[in-house]
This record gives sequence, C-alpha cells and structure tokens, in this order.
Amino acid sequence: MQEKVPFLDLNAQHAPLRAEFDQAIGEVIDSGAFAGGPIVTQFENEFARFCGSRYAIGLGSGTEALWLALLACGIGPGDEVITVPNTFMATAEAITYTGAKPVFVDVDEDTYTMAPALLEEARTSSTKAIIPVHLFGQAADMDPILAFAREHDLYVIEDAAQAHGTEYKGRKAGTMGHAGCFSFYPGKNLGAFGEAGAVVTNDNKLQEAIRILRDHGQSKKYHHAMVGWNCRMDGIQAAVLQVKLPRLDQANQRRRAHASQYDEAFQGVEEIVSPVEARYGKHIYHLYPIRVQERDEMLRMLEEQGIGCGIHYPVPVHLQEAYRDLGYQAGAFPVSETLCDEFISLPMFPELTGAQVQRVTDAVKECLSVGMTFKRAERI
Ligand SMILES: *Cc1c(COP(=O)(O)O)cnc(C)c1O
Repeated sequence: MQEKVPFLDLNAQHAPLRAEFDQAIGEVIDSGAFAGGPIVTQFENEFARFCGSRYAIGLGSGTEALWLALLACGIGPGDEVITVPNTFMATAEAITYTGAKPVFVDVDEDTYTMAPALLEEARTSSTKAIIPVHLFGQAADMDPILAFAREHDLYVIEDAAQAHGTEYKGRKAGTMGHAGCFSFYPGKNLGAFGEAGAVVTNDNKLQEAIRILRDHGQSKKYHHAMVGWNCRMDGIQAAVLQVKLPRLDQANQRRRAHASQYDEAFQGVEEIVSPVEARYGKHIYHLYPIRVQERDEMLRMLEEQGIGCGIHYPVPVHLQEAYRDLGYQAGAFPVSETLCDEFISLPMFPELTGAQVQRVTDAVKECLSVGMTFKRAERI
C-alpha cells in the first residue's frame, strides 16, 4: 500500500523549528512570566502589526476572544446577535455565554460565508451585533455587511479564527469590524502549543475593556472595576507564536499553491465542487473542502486508500441538540444544510508535497471511476 497522506501533520511544521522553540520556551521559564506578562505583550504588538490594527489583546482561546469582544461591546441578556449556522459551534456559544440570543442567516453558495442580502430578514429591534465568519480561510463579503451594520447601528465582530492573513479588498480579516477574533488552537494557520486566542481592534475603549475583562475585571492590581474572568494568554504560547508568526505568510502561500494544484486536478470533474476564491479577496485555505453528493461513501473510500479527511462541519449549528430550544427546523437554512451533507475536507497544511496532493487527487478520481453512483454536483 502507498504511504498515507495525513489530514494535518503538525510535526512536519515543528520539527525544523525545534531549536527555536526550545530557546523561546527556555526564555519564558527563565523570566517566570507564565500568565500574561511581557512576552505576551511583545506578541500582541507583533500580531497587531501583522494585522495592521492598532491593538491586539492576547487571550486564552478564540472562544474567549469572541466572548470578551461581545461583552466589551455591551452585548447581554435580551440582545440578539446575527451569525451563520455554517461555522464551528464556538461562534454561537460565545453569543450564548453573554446571555444574548444567536440568530442565524444562511451562507452564500459560492463563498460559504454570510449572505449579506439575508440580514434584513433576520434583524429585529433587539439585534445588537453581527458576527460574520471568515470560514475556511476566505473572507465574508464585508462591505455590504458593514454598510448594513452602519445603517442600523450594529456592532460587527469578525470571527477570524480560520483567517490569519486572509484579505478582503486589500484589508486583513479581523480589522474591518469593531473587533476581530482569532484562535491559535494548534491546528489553525497560526497555532500555539495548546489553547490561545486574541482580539484585534482599532478602538481604544474596546481594547481597554477587553484587557480588564480578561484579568478578573482589574483596573489595577486587586482593584476590580467589574466582574471579569481569567482569560490571559500563557507566556509559553506567546513565545511559540512569536517563533511562528514571521513564517505565517510563507506558510499561507504554500497552502494557496496546494489549493491551485487541487483546483487544477478537479477542473472539469462534474461530480466535484471545489472551493471558489472570491474575486474580492485572498483565501488562505485553512481548509480545502470539496463538495460531493455521496459524501459518506467517498469518505469511506478515501480512508481505505490512506487519505486523511475531515468534515467541517457535519451538523449546522441551528440543528445542534444544544440549540434545540431556539426552535429551528431542518430546511431553515438550505445552503448550510446541504453543505454539511456534502463537504469533505482534503489534506491541507503547508508542508504537504506536490506528490502528496497528487496522491489525494488520484485517489478522489479513483473513487469516482469505481463507484458509478457519484452524482453530478448541482446548484443548491
Ligand atoms: C477554532 C474556532 C473558534 C474557536 O477557537 P478556540 O481557540 O478553539 O476556542 C471559533 N470560531 C471558528 C470559526 C473556529 O474555527
């Protein structure tokens, strides 16, 4: 049997940098600055510069970034926040933690991100904010979303957890709304050695509020202006991220090259819909999901051939058991629901080789040639 192609290989990224990680982590141990502190501040400055935003606030996870950004905007019980059902659960969870209610709008069939034309239908007098999700590394169509928010006086909080370096009309993901939320979960395009996240913003009041909220509501040591939480970033995570950040652009570039190779191989294959890079931006391919109608069969066949795959995500958020009380029925968001039935994420990480990508595309085509059951892809 041919060598397996893993879905993700973090070791391939980390092994060549091992000496630098050891050095950086050693410095944290020597400094004793483990929870927040000067190394986190350094990383915050570097990440803000990378994004082109005034401030970055290092936190314990991307989920905390979303949660604290919402709290800092004053979102709470009685409020509604509009987002998409085609996302990771954390986007909606963060809304729920504040006491506000998540309200969903469907996504665009080509970009897999928020369909701005549907916002008006979802808006009520309780709507306070919108969370567009830059899913899979592609930016949502921000201009109409920002215009809608301005018109109705709503906050825009970007979920950029899969979009470190993504661009929209030359602007970086995370910098267009009031706040942008990043995750540095190990598998993300910029990943720590554990949990970490950040908010970026140009708004001085928001950054101040988030800094206070992440540190037990302390305005100065042991003086608590409000009830906060413990959401500080670890020094060790900041040190690891500092080693990786200067290599992020090049790593994203490699992902784009792999995506081109996939695109080319699948061109003209009628059973497959490949991801589309919107003309308005730069996709950084956190994931490369194709759509096929007999997804589960394809997944099983690819696994048999040693190709590591994922499903992002098998159940849309509005149909999750946890959100049964919101009262959404199957059929409410046809695009998101169809995508959840049809997506397969193929191996995607910077250190893949051209030969590995070819192994994957050959395997996919072989699935199509042996099973006569694969249907032609259709518009939803
Ligand atoms: C990963 C992710 C999050 C949550 O980030 P964590 O760091 O895992 O808490 C939120 N939204 C999206 C779209 C994500 O992919």
